[in-house]
Amino acid sequence: MSLTQIAPPRVAPILCECGGVCETRTINFTLRRSADTVVLLRNISAEVCQMCGEPQFTIPTTEKMMRMLHSKRNPDGVMLVPIYDMEAL
Ligand SMILES: [Zn+2]
Repeated sequence: MSLTQIAPPRVAPILCECGGVCETRTINFTLRRSADTVVLLRNISAEVCQMCGEPQFTIPTTEKMMRMLHSKRNPDGVMLVPIYDMEAL
């Protein structure tokens, strides 16, 4: 009798450009909507690099983000973003 075991199918880990392995996490992510509007997307699923922290998004998640970015839905919250020009210092 063969002792060979067949490994259960596994999804290959998503790798970052830096070579680090990503893990699925829920994060907050900001995107620029226009020259003076930034949108904060809360609780979005991302593959985050365990080495450099760079997030990657699946294609369905990216499509969802783009839809939300251009949606006319009322936001769940609004925050003020102060701007400091470091060149003026
Ligand atoms: Zn990385």
